[in-house]
Amino acid sequence: MATLSNSFSKGSDSAAVIIPTKPKALTFSYKQLSAEVFSFQKKLAKLGVTPEAAVSIALPNTYEFIVAFLAASWQRAIAAPLNSAYKQEEFEFYIDDLSSAVALVPKGSFAKDGPAVRAARKYKAAIAECYWNGQEVVLDVKNEGKLKGKGNRDIETAQPDDVALVLHTSGTTGRPKAVPLTHRNLTRTMKNIQATYELSPADRTLLVMPLFHVHGLLAGFLSPLFSGGSVIVPLKFSAKEFWEDFITHKANWYTAVPTIHQILLKNSPPSTKPNIRFIRSCSSPLSPTTFHLLEDTYGAPVLEAYAMTEASHQMTSNPLPKNGKRQPGSVGVGQGVEVKILDGEGNEVSQGSEAEICIRGENVTKGYLNNPSANSSSFTKGGFFRTGDQGKMDKDGYVIITGRIKELINKGGEKISPIELDNVLVRHPAVSEAVSFAIPDDLYGQEVAVAIVLKPGQSLDAAELKKWVLDKLAKFKVPKEVYFTDNMPKTATGKIQRRIVAEEMVKQSR
Ligand code: ATP
Ligand code: MG
Repeated sequence: MATLSNSFSKGSDSAAVIIPTKPKALTFSYKQLSAEVFSFQKKLAKLGVTPEAAVSIALPNTYEFIVAFLAASWQRAIAAPLNSAYKQEEFEFYIDDLSSAVALVPKGSFAKDGPAVRAARKYKAAIAECYWNGQEVVLDVKNEGKLKGKGNRDIETAQPDDVALVLHTSGTTGRPKAVPLTHRNLTRTMKNIQATYELSPADRTLLVMPLFHVHGLLAGFLSPLFSGGSVIVPLKFSAKEFWEDFITHKANWYTAVPTIHQILLKNSPPSTKPNIRFIRSCSSPLSPTTFHLLEDTYGAPVLEAYAMTEASHQMTSNPLPKNGKRQPGSVGVGQGVEVKILDGEGNEVSQGSEAEICIRGENVTKGYLNNPSANSSSFTKGGFFRTGDQGKMDKDGYVIITGRIKELINKGGEKISPIELDNVLVRHPAVSEAVSFAIPDDLYGQEVAVAIVLKPGQSLDAAELKKWVLDKLAKFKVPKEVYFTDNMPKTATGKIQRRIVAEEMVKQSR
């Protein structure tokens, strides 16, 4: 059965999760992990978590995140992981959008009255601190919120078509869209990823991508777990400790965004030659230069993949060397996913022509939550999902991404909504108009820039404006460049087009 509760071996004594703390690492076997998840599921049931209740998980990459995520899904509840670096407004949006029953926060957050705690309190979600105490993963309920008096619920058994996970994609046309993914969707991706990279119990991976996005959660964690391998989980990516952890814990592959590969190449030579079976790259374009540099430096095949949240992560990948050629600049071929290049009417274009990359498969979401208009425009009559990415396919089925139809800013794989940023900028009392857009960046691929028109008689400098954003949004959304202008460039019909604004601002600043 295709659920997260029976997709890994519960009796095995081999290592499932390794937390590389120093001097001594913590190792949890499959048997220990399963027992811990079941015990946490009982704690959630006791608190009053029922099927379809949303459990917001505002925890960094930790053992408690893993246990809470799996336990919520086993309980038929909806796990809703959130970036623990969000500010209060961001937490409020996500907690309110799913009417979360409970928010799980790190130890000490309640006393500090942290941003997730304040947001949860505002929307009456229960608040519980969640941490490993050396014996077990503790669920320390600080405020029962709307679950008060609703505790002691039954233990549930997850079903394949239950929603296990909801993540939001950064909206280009308005509010972020909630993407529900079922157990069946997720397990399909786990099988696809296992098959592409031939993952086995002998494999060990070092997880450096956040668990609150599909890249880290599906490719970096759930797929290796499904394959019986081991996952080493540091708190966050550290260029300094990466190779030490990798070599000490005998990892043999990792997946990351191109920015991380570049940081490693630049700053962090391994002390001895690591034994790498393959390196996976995903979430933003990998330049052929970085591709070759990686292969030459580490002597391992580099497999670029293409993924998105709506597809439970992976759609295409380059194959292992024994299964086919790797093509730098291409994201490879569909694996367990049908890929077609379709025009606006949903018809396939001639081979080699550019149009929208569309996909179909058991991994694809059934549709956004409470968003009929996005759903009707996102699926073709034939049931293909429109990715919003422009591309073409060669005669061997290799996909090449040529551009984006959507206007998201892709900063090192982290997608930023220009609209969300515009809305925060125009709330500044001195700002009359604001337009956010991407500019090219060597390390991140793209960086955030904004064009600003001030209100008459007002003055403001870039530093003040950045501070304004930093108070309201997570740090990665703060613009790197601020262009002040008297006239926002517009089309002949008076519309604002981000691409035109971007070109004009960069030209004027030269
Ligand atoms: P994560 O949420 O962990 O960043 P993700 O990249 O799979 O994972 P989204 O945030 O939904 O998911 O972003 C999907 C978009 O990322 C795609 O539509 C595409 O524009 C871009 N993308 C993903 N992989 C690549 C790639 N290899 N090359 C270029 N663009 C990519
Ligand atoms: Mg994303």
